[in-house]
Amino acid sequence: MDEPAIRVRALRKAYGDNVAVAAIDLDVAYGEVFALLGPNGAGKTTTVEILEGYRRRDAGEVTVLGVDPAVANGKRGTTSDAVAKRWRERVGIVLQGTGEFDELTVGEVVRHFARFYPAADDPGAVIERVGLAEKVRARTHTLSGGQKRRLDVALGIIGRPDLLFLDEPTTGFDPEARREFWALIRDLQAGGTTIVLTTHYLEEAEALADRVGVIARGQLIAVDTPRSLGRRDSALATVSWRTPEGSWERTQSATPTAVVTDLAARYSGEVPGLTVTRPTLEDVYLEMIGGAA
Ligand code: ATP
Repeated sequence: MDEPAIRVRALRKAYGDNVAVAAIDLDVAYGEVFALLGPNGAGKTTTVEILEGYRRRDAGEVTVLGVDPAVANGKRGTTSDAVAKRWRERVGIVLQGTGEFDELTVGEVVRHFARFYPAADDPGAVIERVGLAEKVRARTHTLSGGQKRRLDVALGIIGRPDLLFLDEPTTGFDPEARREFWALIRDLQAGGTTIVLTTHYLEEAEALADRVGVIARGQLIAVDTPRSLGRRDSALATVSWRTPEGSWERTQSATPTAVVTDLAARYSGEVPGLTVTRPTLEDVYLEMIGGAA
């Protein structure tokens, strides 16, 4: 399909004098996992909620699965109820933290949401998939923070969406739960779901995203693969090793193989404590954000 799943042009949103989103252009392809990164208050949630149809934009063009989300949500213009309903069925949403539904149990909430979708997934299978099988009879207000977040994810995917928005999906997850969540996202992508997520975890973006976009002060300052962001792939490598005296040496080089070959000759074999590293995604991200500030 030539048309992207998401197309954004010159998107703008201000709250009074505060310009939250200045002029964003963005395309997300069908089947892509796209991660939005940026510091607190950069404009990620505002952007995502406009794409979801939850917030009104001030200006710009937005098309999500071929429909203007503001129109689909009755915030501007008109469309047929059938088109709007079909659009909402195809879009799964995990907002920043909800997870509480009074006295209802996990099983009841997921079964309840399943009724809104014509082709809903099996509630039991979804609960299992997000790792809440043991909590199916627990009332949602008794869940831990990370468990509530898993319930949010379950509600986002119960309708088997074509496009899934996840706003900071793994906040409060323990490391094991985060890995399980990553596996779930890869699974969804393999099944053809397009995914847009925001995260503050750079390793999460690196593990999941085909491309990342960095938002700073309402502007998209970079869009690239995690591997190439900020020309990370061609950055100098740092070679470090331990000297016979026990101190650490390090040097930066564009030709680290030559440095290592040289060291190997000097040590006649194994170089103690040898590492060769390039800047991490977090390194280049922090540099970018620093530059934008
Ligand atoms: P975080 O990482 O903290 O979630 P974010 O990148 O998602 O941040 P937004 O929530 O989009 O940032 O906020 C962007 C800017 O818009 C901030 O300056 C914020 O204070 C402001 N803002 C967001 N929502 C509202 C609102 N409902 N009313 C007024 N200002 C708002």
